[in-house]
Amino acid sequence: MNKRFRKAIFSTLISALSVAFPQSSGAQERSDVTLFENVRIFDGTSAALSAPSNVLIRGNVIERISTTPIAVDRRADTRIVAGGGRTLMPGLIDAHWHAMLAAVTPAESFGDVGYNNLVAASEATDTLMRGFTTVRDVGGPVFGLKKAIDVGIVKGPRIYPSGAVITVTSGHGDFRQLTDLPRTIGGMLTRMEQVGGAMVADSPDEVRLRVREQLMQGASHVKLTAGGGVSSPFSPIDVSTFTEAELRAAVEAAENWGTYVAAHAFTPAAIQRAITAGVICIEHGMLMDEPTAKLMAEKGIWLSMQPLPDELKLGFPVGSVQRAKAEEVWPGIARTYELAKKYKIKTAWGTDVLFSRALAQRQGAILASLARWYTPAEVLVMATSTNAELLALSGKRNPYPGKIGVVEQGALADLLLVEGNPLENISIVSDPTKNFLVIMKDGTIYKNEFAK
Ligand SMILES: [Zn+2]
Repeated sequence: MNKRFRKAIFSTLISALSVAFPQSSGAQERSDVTLFENVRIFDGTSAALSAPSNVLIRGNVIERISTTPIAVDRRADTRIVAGGGRTLMPGLIDAHWHAMLAAVTPAESFGDVGYNNLVAASEATDTLMRGFTTVRDVGGPVFGLKKAIDVGIVKGPRIYPSGAVITVTSGHGDFRQLTDLPRTIGGMLTRMEQVGGAMVADSPDEVRLRVREQLMQGASHVKLTAGGGVSSPFSPIDVSTFTEAELRAAVEAAENWGTYVAAHAFTPAAIQRAITAGVICIEHGMLMDEPTAKLMAEKGIWLSMQPLPDELKLGFPVGSVQRAKAEEVWPGIARTYELAKKYKIKTAWGTDVLFSRALAQRQGAILASLARWYTPAEVLVMATSTNAELLALSGKRNPYPGKIGVVEQGALADLLLVEGNPLENISIVSDPTKNFLVIMKDGTIYKNEFAK
């Protein structure tokens, strides 16, 4: 085959692919080179803004940061954003998100898969427009949505997916009805399992199977529930669910795949058993005691915490089993943040919004509510570089290799241009519509108030 012929075939193939997978969908602006001029940088790690600087993005990478002018070829496709001394910061990261469950109702959540994906896609666009350029998804059938975002069909954040939550019979995440019992091992799957929302596993072998199925679908980490939870009907808060051998089976399967297990756990017993089995990230932990906090600090175990707003609790009807459990857990929020600070536990931040589009809209406000325990700088470091450090535990299963959560040369270009200084006034992040003037993910601008 001669060279010219090969080239012709290749370019035909490429244009056929572009028709099949359009990279651009609507309003986002594409440019190979973007220059932010005269911005003061919050870099994701330091407590002060930089001197006025210029930041050059080429492709999806931050190529250069300089306090002196950066010369660029001012062609039509070079985008220049005059920052006017505003703040440039990393895109925000939510470390405990459920993209498939945030905006649907509980009744809808295991229903029509097509409808649920459309709702989740719309919510994913809102999530990005709130300045969240990355989420760590800790449960839900999210692989299709992630793919649609990654190929450019849907606008949304980077998604680190766990896929289905893995639980035991009657554990947190087991949303089956009593009429679904008894289950035969190896028998028919219930609706919840068919859609990939949660998988029930009652032996080390079943755990291994379900974990490996999530990894096969592209999970970046594995999510297990090691103890009771608030929203599920048959899991009292005080119970420990998986045995140590079952937890170990999950850890082993995840580690063989180069990644890790995150375990939902509230009580000291559930947390400690998970740690003994090799779990390196505890979700929630809100009923922990001092010895458990000490243990987590000593072993360098991550605490993925959420300042759950009262609205979430009040959403459960008075008299319901869920409301009673919420009343047990909520007082633990303040206590756990205090323990996390006292023992300097590695602490990630997330929201855990479930079944409420209205609450999802308050994602930034939930972040700002951390100001009850942390300085604005500590809050923003947590929601950027610290959360990114947790995401990096996915190792080779990281779907987006490259550095996120920081503004530095060589990092991926996930950036927000912000009106005002959020290091002085954290409530700025509560109103992204007004205060986030430019939103860039992976070098692509999705919102640009200057272009209006
Ligand atoms: Zn959750």
